[in-house]
Amino acid sequence: MMMNQIPQEINPLSVEQSQQFAQLMGTLSPVQQAWISGYLAATANGAVGAMPVAAPAVGAAPLTVLFGSQTGNAKHVAQDLAENAKARGLDVKLVDMADYKPNQLKTEKFIVVVVSTYGEGEPPEPAEKLHSFLTSKKAPKLDGVKVAVLGLGDSSYEFFCQTAIDFEDRFARLGAELVHAHALLDVDYDDHAPGWIVGAVDAFEPALKEQAEPASAPVTFDNAVAAPVSQYNKKNPFQAEISAVQKITGRDSTKDVRHVEISLDGSDLTYQAGDALGVYFHNDPAEVDEVISLLGVDPDAEVTIGDVIKPVRDALIEDLELTQSYPAFVEKYAAATGNAQLADLATDKTALRAYIEERQIFDILRDHPAGVTAQHLADCLRKIQPRRYSIASSQQEVEDEVHLTVGVVSFETFDRPHLGGCSGFLSYRVQEGSTVRVFVEHNNNFRLPDADTPVIMVGPGTGIAPFRSFLQDRDAAGAGGKNWLFFGNPHFTQDFLYQVELQSYLKSGLLTRLSVAFSRNQNRKVYVQDRLIEHGADVFAWLQEGAHFYICGDATRMAKDVHRALVAILKTHGDHSDDSAEAYLQDLRDSKRYQRDVY
Ligand code: NAP
Repeated sequence: MMMNQIPQEINPLSVEQSQQFAQLMGTLSPVQQAWISGYLAATANGAVGAMPVAAPAVGAAPLTVLFGSQTGNAKHVAQDLAENAKARGLDVKLVDMADYKPNQLKTEKFIVVVVSTYGEGEPPEPAEKLHSFLTSKKAPKLDGVKVAVLGLGDSSYEFFCQTAIDFEDRFARLGAELVHAHALLDVDYDDHAPGWIVGAVDAFEPALKEQAEPASAPVTFDNAVAAPVSQYNKKNPFQAEISAVQKITGRDSTKDVRHVEISLDGSDLTYQAGDALGVYFHNDPAEVDEVISLLGVDPDAEVTIGDVIKPVRDALIEDLELTQSYPAFVEKYAAATGNAQLADLATDKTALRAYIEERQIFDILRDHPAGVTAQHLADCLRKIQPRRYSIASSQQEVEDEVHLTVGVVSFETFDRPHLGGCSGFLSYRVQEGSTVRVFVEHNNNFRLPDADTPVIMVGPGTGIAPFRSFLQDRDAAGAGGKNWLFFGNPHFTQDFLYQVELQSYLKSGLLTRLSVAFSRNQNRKVYVQDRLIEHGADVFAWLQEGAHFYICGDATRMAKDVHRALVAILKTHGDHSDDSAEAYLQDLRDSKRYQRDVY
């Protein structure tokens, strides 16, 4: 009923107030009207000053934004989407897939999925449960549910954005309606995500607003998303000073691992044990000069990258990816240079994959130097993406420092040495006092439990990093829970990372047990999972006591083998079948007692 239709004798407002009220109502969306109604109800009940809460809605569903994020990128895009919808007055629920109970799907009407892909087309750790639930017998029919899917990935990898494709396919099979075409975005997703977000929210908005009774609160954010907000982030990194870089593998080691200390002094950056540091790097100026001269480009020629104009030499050092190659580069460079051989190669997907797998972009440019303008060259290249390292220190212990354990990517091919982009930069091209742009990536899916709960940590190679952080944290807090670390690397004498620290933690009792697997110290390879199985009875006893189990390191082989070892332990010591052991481990995951940071 309109205000002017209410009989004056039952309308307590004056004519002027009625007119003002009608004017205001004409500008409000249904959600805003519901909010005001709740607010007035609350104030009338004496709850003055409390947050307004409208009467609970019956039948209205929010826009549920589910994100599955390994490195935080999908989380940030999902947050931007939720903010966009919130600004339009829509009811939004933003949820980390790791915290989402799949049986809630039955209650959903509007779903946006933002998900990344890693490894061989696999879902990121937090998305695994929902990803597999959707193909299980338990998955509900989703007729009438409106869905849109956004994929993030890296086209350097063969199964680009596979997880997003899987999600869309699975939702469609269950009967959901795809209301907005998916986008599968590459590492430069920042340039394209905003456009997709607007289109997707446009597609949901009419149906959300049409709901008979708008939901009570305009937006809810999943608690797990909350993290200290710093002014420094991926888009605005902090210029931090390097305090130390130290090689921590022996002279005769097959591996080169560096312990890097960075000062966060002067920033408001904070981190918790389990978080990661994003690091921007510079390409090697000597290699840049070599390709500039091979290609005959004037190093001072100015190029435009986004809204920045700078000499091409600076752009090639500071802004453009020249190490990690990907198919689109070959296609663009072939077109820009008219190189028939590369154009031909680009038509054969398998041959192109094999070609780029062996080569950095530097190598491709050296293979096919051709006259291009500075701007054409810049247009072929994508922007440098920060590399992510698990943090190896606790702020309780090191205060405004952050420590990393960096495995240097180093190999010889085409008769010349090659280094990884960021690991080469941190290991060979910075010194104490150099600056590096960094930001903290919070990871709520890799966290210590309360102080008394036992933890089992499996971290071979540089996978030790977050466990150094865990141990420092527990040491500083005087936490009483038991700690058991499994560490592995090739040789005892060369590769025992943080040996002195770990042995002193054993001596002090902080480390209850330390089990090491030096794979090449004997004829037969010995890995961390062999040690787990050797101590299977105790591992099982710790799990039964409530221990949390963590894995960090290689995703493709080690993490899968360790999982298999856990299944074997549950079968031997817990009298489980394969299925019940898997169910036991799924329960651990669901209760956040089995967490992995694998890459
Ligand atoms: P790493 O390559 O993971 O090696 C650490 C230790 O793990 C070595 O003793 C190694 O033994 C052993 N290992 C090899 N295969 C294993 C398996 N299936 N299960 C358990 N242990 C195994 O350590 P890192 O060089 O410090 O590398 C750490 C990170 O680099 C990894 O997490 C990963 O991201 C990346 N990486 C990936 C690959 C890959 O192919 N996916 C390969 C190397 C590194 P041996 O070397 O003596 O066999």
